[in-house]
Amino acid sequence: MKIKNLTKIYKTEYELVKALNDMTLEFPQKGLVFIVGVSGSGKSTLMNMLSGVDTPTSGEVIVGDKSVFGEKSLFAENKKELFGYRNSYVGLIFQDYNLIEDINVYDNIKLPLEFLGIEDYSIIDEVIRKVDIEEIKYSKVTEISSGQMQRVAIARALVKDSAMILADEPTGNLDSKNTKIVMDLLKEISKDRLVIVITHDDDAAHEYGDRIIAIEDGTILEDTLKNEEINVFDKELEKSTDFVKPKVSFLQQLKFTKGFMRNSIVRSISIFIMLILIPVIGNILCGYAFFDISTSYYDYQQEYGSKYVKVSNVKNGHDVCFSSEEYMEKIDLYGEENLYELYFTYIPITNGDLEESDFYEPVIKNMIIDNTNKVELVEGSFPNEILSKDVPQIAVTDYVIESYKYYNGYILGIGDTLSIGLNDYEIVGIVKTNYKDFINADLSNQLTRLAFEENLTYFNAVYTSFSGYQYIKKNSAYFVEEANYTVYPEGPNAVPYVNTDYVLIRNADGKAGIPTYKKGCYGVVTSFNDDKLSYRHALISKTLWEGFMEMNEDMLKIHPSFTCVLTSSNKSNVSGYIAYVYDDSDLLNVYGVAGEVVVRQRQYESFLSKTEGSRFLFDIDSSIYKDVIENEHIVNESFKYAKATWDKCEGSKFVMYEFLITLIVIMAIFAYIINSMTLNIEKKKIGIKYSFGISKFPIIIPYLLETILYIITGIVLSLVIVKYIYPFVVTNFIYTSMQELLEYEFFYIANMNILQWDLIIYAIMSISLVAMILTICRKSPIEIIKDL
Ligand code: ADP
Ligand code: MG
Repeated sequence: MKIKNLTKIYKTEYELVKALNDMTLEFPQKGLVFIVGVSGSGKSTLMNMLSGVDTPTSGEVIVGDKSVFGEKSLFAENKKELFGYRNSYVGLIFQDYNLIEDINVYDNIKLPLEFLGIEDYSIIDEVIRKVDIEEIKYSKVTEISSGQMQRVAIARALVKDSAMILADEPTGNLDSKNTKIVMDLLKEISKDRLVIVITHDDDAAHEYGDRIIAIEDGTILEDTLKNEEINVFDKELEKSTDFVKPKVSFLQQLKFTKGFMRNSIVRSISIFIMLILIPVIGNILCGYAFFDISTSYYDYQQEYGSKYVKVSNVKNGHDVCFSSEEYMEKIDLYGEENLYELYFTYIPITNGDLEESDFYEPVIKNMIIDNTNKVELVEGSFPNEILSKDVPQIAVTDYVIESYKYYNGYILGIGDTLSIGLNDYEIVGIVKTNYKDFINADLSNQLTRLAFEENLTYFNAVYTSFSGYQYIKKNSAYFVEEANYTVYPEGPNAVPYVNTDYVLIRNADGKAGIPTYKKGCYGVVTSFNDDKLSYRHALISKTLWEGFMEMNEDMLKIHPSFTCVLTSSNKSNVSGYIAYVYDDSDLLNVYGVAGEVVVRQRQYESFLSKTEGSRFLFDIDSSIYKDVIENEHIVNESFKYAKATWDKCEGSKFVMYEFLITLIVIMAIFAYIINSMTLNIEKKKIGIKYSFGISKFPIIIPYLLETILYIITGIVLSLVIVKYIYPFVVTNFIYTSMQELLEYEFFYIANMNILQWDLIIYAIMSISLVAMILTICRKSPIEIIKDL
């Protein structure tokens, strides 16, 4: 081994220090060589170059034909032998021992063998015996005396069986007794390898040394050979030397991780709190900041099996149907192939003898025109050409078949007839629905029940084509069209401030059970909701019930929502009576006869012009879903809650963004502080490993393993909090009304991005950790160890 023109210049803040000045030396294969000199003469600097733990400013360390630090030339392939050299060629002993505290004495000594990939550990016991530390073999390295520590360090250097052992002031911290033990040991070892020892103890050097090199100001002052026998320079042996790069087994990494975690309780606790709290907070903030109505509502529909979305127009805050012009606009906008046209109808399928079921409705209430050609049939065909047949045709759903069976005990099938108003229609097709999904569903769950009720729109329906619809409209007594209409208070007994939601037109005679209509009469229907109680009062006291009614407040409480029908035989000026008041859910319950109302001619005409209209349905897998949800007036009851949540989130969006950014900054600062605190403690250990020849990546591994472990635990715990604890607290202690609870459901559906949050934290934690370790490893091992 030799050094050639070795120069090391330290740059300090004020000056350049030339610690080694163009030094050239050759070392033999074995013997005990001392390097002596006064403090500051450059001994340690030389030693650090020899051991490869620091890099020279210029010059080379050469073993055989290998240059340890690689060629400095710009064009030469810079093949670094450094890591292998540190690992397998050099055994290094420091003044302050530099043992690794995470593992015990035995494992410290074993470490170099593992890095070398040697699996035969028998040499360890041999070496332990040699340095005489059997009694502390399994002790923690923090619990032994300094003399013992240095012997462990020597044992650690010795097990490698490396060609060279370097010791920088190995006895500097020891008493005379231990100094002697160590020196004797080094002398013994030097019989079959090169041992270079630095000391400022000239006496020891003369007593033990085979060769003494004195240096001063970075140059050789004197080179004394005391023992000729050691002067052996076997170039061929050196040439055949292979440097072995260290390998760190996974098990060893786990041991490091374990030791590291044991030694860093504060870090563990802080990271834990961060990994649990921050995802939970971040998650709630994200829920608000990124709430997306279409995704959230889609998730609800998926989860609860609500398959269709019902869309209507809205005027004066009321659901009204589209006029035909408006409807055509929607078709242009969204495409006919996506929309089902929806009308109300009224087709009783029971004679009223049987008790009503919660599940089967006694009246078919919807008529659907299929424009999409996507309706799936259980059997039969779709009634496309209804006008060309003698017997008009219709399709019903499997649900209607079941309802009919429930109320009549008779199973309808293809070829049977269904009466709509006064006409019979042949059933030619049975439309497939997923009503069976709800037979065993838990309808006491509010959202499930809503989904079922929303689905009833397409369950409880007859299906026809557009031509079929025209036919039925012309011929049916019970076909109902709707339009928005306002009845102004006029005339002696006019209804004050009646803003009607719907106008019904009945163009034929009524049937048994329904109060008799005159042929060609018209009706105005007003529907009253709970929140219009004051209005109902006005209606009742001032107009409707004077002299007529037995209806009282109690009945209103029982029937909070009811409908009045205005009838008139006078087409040109719709004035007449509000004749019937009945429960919304069952037209057959007539409660009373009402007073007179006048509708002006002009309004009547505009009313007529609005009667050609409908709503539309589209299924949740349609491509227009997002657009429609975000831009149209959705009638589905459940949507009300989703929308309320959306409005809330939209309102607080920017504040949430601000919080989120703050949170990320806090996270980053926290990660920086906690990581740098830890790495300050870990620095020395990193330097020691680095000096062993371990490269950067394996050094990072234990810290990453630890971080990953905390992250996994953090994910699990924060999932538990977000999935169970947080909803429990919110739904039991914070939100109390049903409205709030249902709104929260939608927030909760949107609130499940927790894993993404853990990933962000994971990234921030790990990136800052890796960056810090890489920054540390930019320095040379000795600089890290000495914290320069
Ligand atoms: P010795 O081990 O013989 O006491 P060193 O090799 O430690 O001496 O130091 C040689 C010279 O280099 C001294 O003047 C010392 O101050 C300087 N020196 C050593 N290390 C550094 C460093 N990291 N930065 C700046 N100067 C240094
Ligand atoms: Mg020194």
